[in-house]
Amino acid sequence: MKPAAFEYHRPTTVEEATALLADLGHDAELLAGNQSLGIIMANRLATPDHLVDLGQVDALSGVTVGHEAVEIGAMTTHRDLEFDDDLREAVEMVPESAEQIAGPSVRNRGTVGGSVAEADPAGNYPTAFVALDADLHLTSADEERTVPAREFFVAYMFTDLGPEELVTGVTIDREPFPVERTGTAFEELKRGAQTFPTVSAATALRVDDPEAEEPTIEEARVALANVADVPLHVPDAEDALEGGPLDDGVDAAAEAAIEAADPSPEMHADEEWKEELAGEYTRRSLRTAHERATR
Ligand SMILES: Cc1cc2nc3c(=O)[nH]c(=O)nc-3n(C[C@H](O)[C@H](O)[C@H](O)COP(=O)(O)OP(=O)(O)OC[C@H]3O[C@@H](n4cnc5c(N)ncnc54)[C@H](O)[C@@H]3O)c2cc1C
Repeated sequence: MKPAAFEYHRPTTVEEATALLADLGHDAELLAGNQSLGIIMANRLATPDHLVDLGQVDALSGVTVGHEAVEIGAMTTHRDLEFDDDLREAVEMVPESAEQIAGPSVRNRGTVGGSVAEADPAGNYPTAFVALDADLHLTSADEERTVPAREFFVAYMFTDLGPEELVTGVTIDREPFPVERTGTAFEELKRGAQTFPTVSAATALRVDDPEAEEPTIEEARVALANVADVPLHVPDAEDALEGGPLDDGVDAAAEAAIEAADPSPEMHADEEWKEELAGEYTRRSLRTAHERATR
């Protein structure tokens, strides 16, 4: 099937894009990397009258790794993140989540903003940004606002984004995660390169002394993908880890992940197995993050 007819718009600035959205509202759909929307439109599950292509809005692309924060523009591609060495040094989980998305053709075109707006609970960045307590920046013709990732994903593939708003970017606060004492990791199980993960776990750990034999975990972050209607933050797992060495808390953290998970069954994975995976991938991701924090 081919997409239904639509009118194509190609703004070059955020102001032009938001003006178009203000004018067209529910009749318009934003187009980013077209790795999800194209399939949906080809199957006529979406038939917008207008497409507003963000591909020429250069201000929305790029990564800035500052001392206090990492800023990622909405039109930054998975590939851009995957190969950004400064980003990898600052917050390894993000390029690690990018490099595990599909194959190179999807990563060359797919974008951060498209992934966040699509809000698939199995999506890699939504989970990484929830784990890192990142802020998402939204703008319309009338207003700019910032929403914590932990509040943005409201229900199954449903977000706080209004019809006249677009995602402009993401900010990750670096203050809780000094490179010398921090490790982050994104571990996932998937059936094939081109499939979304069955379950993934995004974790971050800051230790008191990376040289110590059993460093104390000062701060932990844990989020899971594809085990709930939204990317799942697991504060009980974090509580189980903070204040002691990894070995004291890792099993309790895995148990907390299993407890928090409320997965839907899929053809290849029933609820019980997904819960088990939630525990196992939390454990694996924490071990990797810990190795990185202490290397
Ligand atoms: C075979 C395959 C495997 C995949 N596997 C994975 C995977 O394992 N993990 C994973 O996370 N993802 C996966 N994806 C999805 C991939 O990451 C997509 O790139 C992404 O979800 C959509 O990004 P896009 O830039 O292509 O958005 P588009 O397809 O262009 O748009 C998607 C939706 O987002 C909206 N949108 C786009 N940009 C913005 C913006 N800035 N502000 C507001 N709304 C916006 C659009 O209007 C549209 O509704 C896979 C995709 C494919 C095709």
